[in-house]
Amino acid sequence: MKYTHHNNELTIEHIGQSVFLKGWVQKSRNLGGLIFIDLRDRFGITQLLVKPDHVCYDIASKIRNEFVIEVKGIVIERESKNKTIKTGEIEVEVTELHILSQAETPPIIVSNDTDALEDTRLKYRYLDLRRPVMQNFLIKRHWITQAIREVLVHEGFYELETPILGKSTPEGARDYLVPSRLYAGHFYALPQSPQIYKQLFMVAGFEKYFQIARCFRDEDLRADRQPEFTQVDIEASFVDQEDVQALIERILVHTFKKILGVDIKTPFLRMSYHDALSLYGTDKPDLRYDLKIQDYTDLFKSIEVPIFQGKSMVRGIITTLSDTFTRKRLDQLADLVKKNHGDTLAYIKYADGQYSGSIAKFLNEEQLKSLWIKDQHILFLVPGEFENVSSALGALRIELANELNLIEKNRYEFLWVVDWPLLEYNEDEKRFYAKHHPFTAPVNPDDLKNNPKQAMAKAYDIVLNGYEIGGGSIRIHRQDVQQLMFDTLGLTKEDIEHRFGFFVDALKYGTPPHGGLALGLDRIVMLMTDTTNIKDVVAFPKTQSAKDMMMSAPSDVEAVQLEELHIKVSE
Ligand code: ASP
Repeated sequence: MKYTHHNNELTIEHIGQSVFLKGWVQKSRNLGGLIFIDLRDRFGITQLLVKPDHVCYDIASKIRNEFVIEVKGIVIERESKNKTIKTGEIEVEVTELHILSQAETPPIIVSNDTDALEDTRLKYRYLDLRRPVMQNFLIKRHWITQAIREVLVHEGFYELETPILGKSTPEGARDYLVPSRLYAGHFYALPQSPQIYKQLFMVAGFEKYFQIARCFRDEDLRADRQPEFTQVDIEASFVDQEDVQALIERILVHTFKKILGVDIKTPFLRMSYHDALSLYGTDKPDLRYDLKIQDYTDLFKSIEVPIFQGKSMVRGIITTLSDTFTRKRLDQLADLVKKNHGDTLAYIKYADGQYSGSIAKFLNEEQLKSLWIKDQHILFLVPGEFENVSSALGALRIELANELNLIEKNRYEFLWVVDWPLLEYNEDEKRFYAKHHPFTAPVNPDDLKNNPKQAMAKAYDIVLNGYEIGGGSIRIHRQDVQQLMFDTLGLTKEDIEHRFGFFVDALKYGTPPHGGLALGLDRIVMLMTDTTNIKDVVAFPKTQSAKDMMMSAPSDVEAVQLEELHIKVSE
């Protein structure tokens, strides 16, 4: 028989009712002969009471944590009430009790707080996921996914699937390959994204497509990255950049309202890629705090500061002085700047009418004043080239915001980063790479031929609180332009034929203008559940070294399997 209530439901109103409950034993304790059991399910906890004179007292006294039990009983008012939970005013006096499953002492205590090591948690993930906080992450993930889906289905998008076994796609990361048994020496690639397939849906005339798609990229992992991750992959025909952006805004407005009750304002701010780098030092700025980068190049042209000599620019950030800025700390910040491709970190403090700091001595009073450093403030300066200075100051900006507690919780700052360069030139390899991917449309196709370094893309990224939560573009839909794009990327005729021949062909037969975007579902869930660890919102994540601790994957395989796949493993 099914239970009558979840374990978060019973209150004073149910007193006198007979109920049937199931769940896990959170805790069992014997107080002066009375046995109290906290019964847990995915919704909450109900307290059970077993009296010493009852027939099930013997069984009850054998119960340990994490046993699965079912009980019948009567709801009664509790003597000592617990106002922190909904069921805290009642308990259920047990009339019948059955043990459905026993449990050994679990290697992880099933409670919100844990001091278990991450490896242990991942090894016993099914127990880790029993902890209510962890359940909450995945249950929220479910509801967020449904909310996103609601908007897309409501707006007439078809949810269509694309193959997992495919061919290498050009998102720019390393592929996961799957050897073919039937064709020796040939491999499928797991999709880095369904990019080509979704564009082929447009060629096929579906017009509006989406998919909650698993993507695979064999890259070095970071706290916000997993080797396999989920995209809400979207594509539509006859749309321009504004149409796609407005759709994404509708999705996010609905989802944030429904899940968090938060009203987010649209349209989101638009900022060019260049401004993002120049003002915030990153293409994914966190706008919850200011700390803008300012340019001091002109000012220092006439001042001889040895470490600035020969550098093309000097830029900096002014912030309030903090007790934490000790000598040692400033050295650490200088290291951070170096690690992020910066040159040197210089600083000038102004406190109680006095200027000091690493380069103050090179400036006279008037020059110091022209820096506009307010009392109790400090100016950090980094000299160098635009890209290096930006990335160094971008990293410093984040560090300072954390250190000075400038980041407001429960605030959501969305931003579209637009006006991207189409291509990136690699000086070492003397060739171009697509900044987004090779299917992104140039604003002006002629630039591809005449002026590739200056060519701009119809691309857009969406950023939330310093995280890129999605990216997309209007696509090339003309075969000649696609061909030209591949040429510009240095692909030979054979390369194109071999890798993307089918796609270039497909564009020949009547392709509607189209575009789309992919949202990073894991990151969105991470931000909406206020965690900084992507693993919290992935049911069975891999470790930082790409291992599945529970299954011990990757693992070796039987020799016959390798033989069938025509694979010899070298030592
Ligand atoms: N396929 C792209 C990506 O994975 C997203 C898009 O352009 O729609 O980043």
